Amino acid sequence: MKQLVPNFLKKRADLTPDRVALIFEETNYTFRQLFEYSREIAGQLCSIGLKKESTAGVLLSNHKDSVMILYALQMLGVRAVILNNRLTSEELLWQLEDSEVDVLLYENAFANKITEIKKTFPRAVIEKEELFQLEVAEAFIENEFDLDDVTTIMYTSGTTGHPKGVLQTFGNHWWSATASALNIGLSDEDRWLCAVPIFHISGYSILMKSVIYGMTVVLHQTFNEKAAIEDILKYRVTTMSVVSTMLLRINERLEVNQLPGHFRCMLLGGGPAPLSLLEDCKEKGIPVYQSYGMTETASQFATLAPEYSLSKLGSAGKALFPNQIKIIGKNGEEVSNHSEGEIVVKGPNVTIGYLNRVLETSESIKNGWFHTGDIGYLDAEGFLYVLDRRSDLIISGGENIYPAEIEGVLMSHPDIADAGVIGFTDSKWGQVPGAFIVAKGNTNLSEGELIEFCTKLLAKYKVPKVFRFVEELPRNASKKLLRKNLREMVKKEHS
Ligand code: ATP
Ligand code: MG
Repeated sequence: MKQLVPNFLKKRADLTPDRVALIFEETNYTFRQLFEYSREIAGQLCSIGLKKESTAGVLLSNHKDSVMILYALQMLGVRAVILNNRLTSEELLWQLEDSEVDVLLYENAFANKITEIKKTFPRAVIEKEELFQLEVAEAFIENEFDLDDVTTIMYTSGTTGHPKGVLQTFGNHWWSATASALNIGLSDEDRWLCAVPIFHISGYSILMKSVIYGMTVVLHQTFNEKAAIEDILKYRVTTMSVVSTMLLRINERLEVNQLPGHFRCMLLGGGPAPLSLLEDCKEKGIPVYQSYGMTETASQFATLAPEYSLSKLGSAGKALFPNQIKIIGKNGEEVSNHSEGEIVVKGPNVTIGYLNRVLETSESIKNGWFHTGDIGYLDAEGFLYVLDRRSDLIISGGENIYPAEIEGVLMSHPDIADAGVIGFTDSKWGQVPGAFIVAKGNTNLSEGELIEFCTKLLAKYKVPKVFRFVEELPRNASKKLLRKNLREMVKKEHS
């Protein structure tokens, strides 16, 4: 039987119409306003031919208009392919073709990329302001959402290979929002600061929480630590989503216990965080909830509460209430606590699969368990520790080495701005770790000094045997390190 729920925004506008839904550039928008504006935009989207089950690509920035466009698409039952606006025009074109969107809707700030895209993209392309000039046709907004229907498609970051279009259903977003509330709690006073991109699941999931909880979102166009701290105070923000580079900058700017008492949660996700950063935050009284999740799990899947942040330092916590985690060995068998293996997950916020990728979907989802491609372990109390991507594992003389651990140590060196570690072929050990280092400013780092530094903090077999000093490291549009590009670089040198 279908599981139907009321149209999220319509229901919310009915329940709490006068509550503030969004604060953007000092202006407040209530849920009633958000619903009415979004319904108008839905009418304009109808006049360009979009309807239930159409697919629309959107290339937008963090802006109140984007929020309304996303709600308008959702209410029409149009599947939104939410594009990462930091991608190049070639990357965007690839995703547009892969997802076969009917229409591409964009914002003028990305006009340069669109000029390139238009040369080969055969479908309709429309700019936001052009859309807003159109006649408002009757909007066929849905009264009910089927929890099994796909509402958004987001591409993975493309860290390990080509990005894959992740199908996200209404149910995935519903359960993700519910699971988070069951974990960190919910009050009428809650306000979430969104300075992460809304094209990414970290940002979009904040919008879903807003409409489901009736909670105010303070939306920032881009991240700026000064502005973030100011708005936490000014708007009595209680929660903020961050990735580790954001937290690093916030931490550097804050004095001990400077965050106000009403602020209760820095939700940290997106990738590994250096242990030194988590320790610093604890000392400064910054309440960090370390989390583990991915595009395929519609944001956080497991979370560690701050009371465990030192006793379980570096852990991503436990699976949220509706979620389950298992660690499996090479043959798919569940391994014992403290044994390393692939992290597999199950829960109602997990994707139903990848767009147009039957093979990858069947390889990833087996018997209802999604295989993340990440390696980790559970400790005796069931806390999850994420080690690294399976594809980046280095095996040296039979020992497993996780590049993220070595990178974390290197990054704690005061003269290192960035670090990337991969396996180099070695006749004796099979593979040995090698480090690519970006030094800070004019500092003169020597290999000997780095070896000495690492030897103090790492077991001998983990100390890099090769050091390369470089100007910068290859990172994707999500700023994630592309170790596969480093491997290719080294491979080319040897061919
Ligand atoms: P692709 O799937 O295309 O390679 P991606 O996996 O980087 O890209 P995302 O969905 O944005 O795309 O990122 C999810 C990944 O981020 C996780 O699978 C995991 O590798 C990493 N990650 C998330 N949280 C953590 C964490 N707490 N610790 C370590 N790694 C994490
Ligand atoms: Mg991934």
